[in-house]
Amino acid sequence: MYSIFLGAPGAGKGTQATAIAQKLNLAHIASGDLFRQALKRGTGLGRQAKNYIEKGELVPNEIATHMVLERMSAPDSEKGTVLDGFPRNLEQAKALDKALARKSLEIDNVISIKVSEEELQKRLGGRRICHRCQTVYNIVESPPHVEGKCDKCEGKLYQRPDDTAETIKKRLEIYFEHTAPLIDYYRRKGKLIEVDGEETVDEVTRRTVAALNERWLIAR
Ligand code: ADP
Ligand code: ZN
Repeated sequence: MYSIFLGAPGAGKGTQATAIAQKLNLAHIASGDLFRQALKRGTGLGRQAKNYIEKGELVPNEIATHMVLERMSAPDSEKGTVLDGFPRNLEQAKALDKALARKSLEIDNVISIKVSEEELQKRLGGRRICHRCQTVYNIVESPPHVEGKCDKCEGKLYQRPDDTAETIKKRLEIYFEHTAPLIDYYRRKGKLIEVDGEETVDEVTRRTVAALNERWLIAR
């Protein structure tokens, strides 16, 4: 199964994509995580992406597409993939369709997680991430048991440098202008599943799994 998670920054698509990939035993490919890894390692790719990410802008399509498609060609992707953060605009979506078609594959479903803009602002400002296992916390809504420390692995929590007020505004603008149109693109293809992202994390996961199961039954 090939799935895409769509959602504004802060909608919880990373959290949900991680949970669903684990439940269904699929590879989880998060473009933002791939970029941050490249940045940390100081690779050429990381250097190319750095300025865009810090400003909250999209990394150029060729770079992002190449990076994700290459990651998707790893053996663990064969059983299926949950894409998180890619595609982020129409050009990337079309490049992905083409690449999959070459292998006689296609996207099976697209999960769009809906959250109001007000809620997004709140979540992003308080977001903290475990530097070791990438688990996401919110210092207001879902704080860790010990301040600054991950519940799962005791790793140190950090605030993403692109989670500042100004960059958050920019990322939301880009989302609504370039990424949100993908919702219609996939709806027209009959692949869209819409999920309310303002429930608890577990409830959103439960509803997503239920919707996927239902779709799978109909598709078969
Ligand atoms: P969020 O969804 O919370 O904005 P991500 O971790 O998915 O966070 O992405 C962080 C940044 O990485 C983006 O703001 C952008 O600069 C870059 N990026 C991630 N995915 C893509 C993509 N598909 N195309 C272009 N840039 C991307
Ligand atoms: Zn952790």
